[in-house]
Amino acid sequence: MFENMDKHLYNTNTNVLTEAEQLWEKCLNIIKDNVAYSTYQTWFVPIKAVGLNDNVITLQVPSQFFYEWLEEHYVELLGKTIKRVLGRVGRLEYRIMMESSSNKHNPATMNISGSAYPKQSKDSNFIDISLKRSDPHDIKTPYAIPGLKRVQIDPQLNSNYVFDNYVEGDCNRVARSAGIHVAQKPGATSFNPLVVYGGVGWGKTHLVQAIGNDVRRLHPNKSVLYVSAEKFINQFIDHSKNNEVNDFIHFYQLIDVLIMDDIHLFVTAPKTQDVFFAIFNHLHQSGKQIILTSDTAPRDLEGMQERLLSRFRWGLNADIQAPDFDTRKAILQVKMRQEGLEISDEVVRYVAYNIQSNVRELEGALIALYAQATLNKKEIDIDLAKRVMKNFVKTAAREMTIENIQKLVCDYYHVSYDRLLTKTRKRDVVLARQITMYFAKKFTKQSLKTIGDHFGGFDHTTVIHSCQTVENLMETDMEYKENIIEIQQKVQLASA
Ligand code: ADP
Ligand code: MG
Repeated sequence: MFENMDKHLYNTNTNVLTEAEQLWEKCLNIIKDNVAYSTYQTWFVPIKAVGLNDNVITLQVPSQFFYEWLEEHYVELLGKTIKRVLGRVGRLEYRIMMESSSNKHNPATMNISGSAYPKQSKDSNFIDISLKRSDPHDIKTPYAIPGLKRVQIDPQLNSNYVFDNYVEGDCNRVARSAGIHVAQKPGATSFNPLVVYGGVGWGKTHLVQAIGNDVRRLHPNKSVLYVSAEKFINQFIDHSKNNEVNDFIHFYQLIDVLIMDDIHLFVTAPKTQDVFFAIFNHLHQSGKQIILTSDTAPRDLEGMQERLLSRFRWGLNADIQAPDFDTRKAILQVKMRQEGLEISDEVVRYVAYNIQSNVRELEGALIALYAQATLNKKEIDIDLAKRVMKNFVKTAAREMTIENIQKLVCDYYHVSYDRLLTKTRKRDVVLARQITMYFAKKFTKQSLKTIGDHFGGFDHTTVIHSCQTVENLMETDMEYKENIIEIQQKVQLASA
């Protein structure tokens, strides 16, 4: 697929135009009349004609993304123009400068035929969008893959999250059936966007991943991408630093089914909301499917721009509730089948009855049961279940309260408890408040709102923001990080 470049003629004299350059000049004159000026400047001026061989003109493009974009958007125009200038036999080949090349003067390139020769896509050609830029061998931008006509991306889906093992119950019936519907006709139902919201561990991620997996099964040609809002925010920050926001936006605009998990995290990231808005509009206008999850009902997402909230209302907002007893039982049975465990009905009922808060804990209980049974070489019977569940209940009783964490942190920073409960902006109190909120989120099951209420009435965005601040500071400030670790040990000791 990569032709030997020696075959091509290259211009070594900058004053005299090669034949290739002359022909390309002619092409440019035609193209200029057919596209907007900005398009011409952005996408055609940077192209250099670098070779001509057997009616094949070689165009050098600055990046793989560039190549994909041309193929995606201007393939017809390019094809027609080249045929007009070179005649019916005229063909096009791209030469792509490799962005990861370390040699600026003699960058690595690869040649690839124009779309007259569409290539087969293969899973092994997927690019992981989580590529770390620090590795010089990685391709700098996660965007395109040479040799493929359409952009191929790793959908970032977990193949274990499918509808088959997603138990239907009263708690998720609407969201689940909307999801199945969307997977059958992505972008073509009125459920666009589909917003799934509900508490932690109630099955949002599983559901939206199942939709993604189903789309891949039913529509293998559609590009699907699952991305957490957190990752999206980080990618955006990364690309902003490198002045690559346009590339970033373009990349997301090429996706057919975009699944964005945990969009409540956007509330403290207004700039990310701006780019997401641009992406959302483009996708929606092009009939692409957007699927979102949130831990809060969209209408209660304080800090989310109204223009986004109004767009979320265009589609379907479906909530998931905490699983009811029957659903919990059914989920346990599915998990048992998956793990190859056999547990009596009585035990299943006992566990489902005693663990109510979220599905992750149900799974935890199941694993604990299994571990105890193998450890003691015992059957999983009701007695063992009772003993193990007692531990679970005990853990719950020993769970940290927000008040306990507040006192520990106050102690550590010598801030009085009373001052912590005021809304002052004094530095020491702000520091203690942020850290307490961080640990309250980490070690209690309280909602963000409840946590905020414990500090004299801050809203949930403040809590999210505090947690992010602590995490950011830990990354940049070693001393701060050590303090946090020390406090964490105290919190864990106190709850042991
Ligand atoms: P959320 O994203 O809402 O926090 P997850 O989707 O991560 O929750 O679910 C937590 C765990 O519970 C996952 O392992 C998931 O497979 C499981 N789970 C949740 N709901 C269901 C369900 N209805 N059927 C089967 N498993 C479920
Ligand atoms: Mg989730």
